[in-house]
Amino acid sequence: MATLLGASEIREIANQIGLTPTKKLGQNFVVDGNTCRRIVKSADVTPEDIALEIGPGLGSLTLALLESASKVVAIEIDERLARQLPITAENHGFEIERLEVIHQDAMTIEPMESSPTVLVANLPYNVSVPVLLRVLEKLPSLRSGVVMVQSEVADRLVATANSKTYGSPSVKATWWAEMSSAGSVSRSIFWPVPNVDSSLVRFVRHSPAGDEELRKNTFQLIDAAFAQRRKMLRGALSEIFGGSSAASEVLVKAGIDPTLRGEALVLDDFLKIARTRQEL
Ligand code: SAM
Repeated sequence: MATLLGASEIREIANQIGLTPTKKLGQNFVVDGNTCRRIVKSADVTPEDIALEIGPGLGSLTLALLESASKVVAIEIDERLARQLPITAENHGFEIERLEVIHQDAMTIEPMESSPTVLVANLPYNVSVPVLLRVLEKLPSLRSGVVMVQSEVADRLVATANSKTYGSPSVKATWWAEMSSAGSVSRSIFWPVPNVDSSLVRFVRHSPAGDEELRKNTFQLIDAAFAQRRKMLRGALSEIFGGSSAASEVLVKAGIDPTLRGEALVLDDFLKIARTRQEL
């Protein structure tokens, strides 16, 4: 019967492959099988799913995914870990044909042949937001997912307008998906124990608000609005529109009050400005 990884085995494998976890790659490994099963369950992974995992590490979550999904595609930047993963899966009684390990930086993900349907990952903390946004952009086959991120980042991803934590990742993520909180995870289930708290974020994809041209246009406005978040929109967008009175004109035409700050706007508002800009 297939089994999951335990805490002592995780240290043993790391030892065997000469791995000392590094902060640079966000290498904090989950050493508790129950937590891995809980994460997979909260992602509603079914036998019809092809799961995508970013940063499988020593394989704790990968094995739990192999229990539920028909196939797991795992993208790992550390070559030692990528090489070891199929061996660990086989040693634990899983058919390695159901596991595809890709040695790659997830920041360079492009559309792939095996179309993953669900993302389940304990994301490397230093790149969690750009990796999540890239995956949403490049892999439209993903219908939903659950990711573990630093709690502070989770708060930003699920934040709503007019809150302190609301920012460019909160708005951008809603281009592709509905984001929601899926609970927190104790520090004690990691090795090494991190000095930050972790939380789970769930997403469910919806149809995008428009084509790529509109998305790029909208994201440029979002970036500008939040780069100077204390400024009124007419000031924050002045560079894009060639002066603050030109920016005011566009904003009024789009039905947006030029004296508002970016933090008051939802994606729909940014879309109105982007569409007006395209009509200029
Ligand atoms: N999934 C494992 C677990 O839960 O135990 C490990 C999670 S650990 C937080 C993050 C993993 O992502 C590490 O294995 C690290 O080597 C890998 N990683 C870091 N940066 C990466 C990147 N840019 N692309 C792919 N993998 C990356």
